[in-house]
Amino acid sequence: MIWKSHVFYYTVCPRKYYLAYVKKIKVNPTKEMVYGNLFHKLREYISKNESKILKNIKLTYSFEEIVSEYENCYEDSLNYAITENARDLEILEIDMEDIDDILKKDLDLYFIGRAIRAKRTMDSLGIEKDELAFYLAPECNYVEYKIIDKKTGFAGIIDKIIRSKNEFFPIEIKTGKPPLEGVYYSHKIQACFSSILVENKFKIPVRLAFIDYTQINESRPVLIDEDLKKEVFRIKDEILKINEGYTPKKIQKCGQCEYKGVC
Ligand code: SF4
Repeated sequence: MIWKSHVFYYTVCPRKYYLAYVKKIKVNPTKEMVYGNLFHKLREYISKNESKILKNIKLTYSFEEIVSEYENCYEDSLNYAITENARDLEILEIDMEDIDDILKKDLDLYFIGRAIRAKRTMDSLGIEKDELAFYLAPECNYVEYKIIDKKTGFAGIIDKIIRSKNEFFPIEIKTGKPPLEGVYYSHKIQACFSSILVENKFKIPVRLAFIDYTQINESRPVLIDEDLKKEVFRIKDEILKINEGYTPKKIQKCGQCEYKGVC
């Protein structure tokens, strides 16, 4: 199977895919990667529990009271993110006090963003509790949803899928620095890869996917068209060539790549 992570590695650098998945070289993640994973896990926890939070919110609540409902899941979401990344945190000997501080600051801003969204919805639609939860966090949404598709040979865990009436919209959550406009090429390819999985799973065309750039609290659309799908299948063929023995060359811009020491 070709997994979404394979395609992501390939789009960042084909040689990175080769080192990680063909040569199976294990390297420690960078600090930035671990922080990214922690932010990711925080959002995963809150997405999975947001319906419960919203079900407590009454129309009479002030903005501060809504924020405080979200804050009730501070400890549980922090524990979840830290437990899920415990191995990497230990390897990199990251100071837990620093982690707590950085994650709490991130959560503070995130909760304010979610509370603004809830307050505006309540004020404009006059809905509360179960109805608010149904509107903003419908249980038909899927979080960390795994799809294995034998037809294409593709597989992946999709961060989130929003179902609205008869349409499905895959969402990729990105915690790193966003581009000034639009989305990065690698993110666009991932969004299309996820859309192909969703289309084949639910037998319904996917027209749009979204990249959630959490640092700026912005969801940017990716149009899923035939050209983009062809690009994904072209990448699949390139990956298969590498699997069969082709060695990709080094690229020029290696940035913070964790494979620098072994490449
Ligand atoms: S060090 Fe550079 S060439 Fe090597 S895998 Fe990383 S990004 Fe690619």
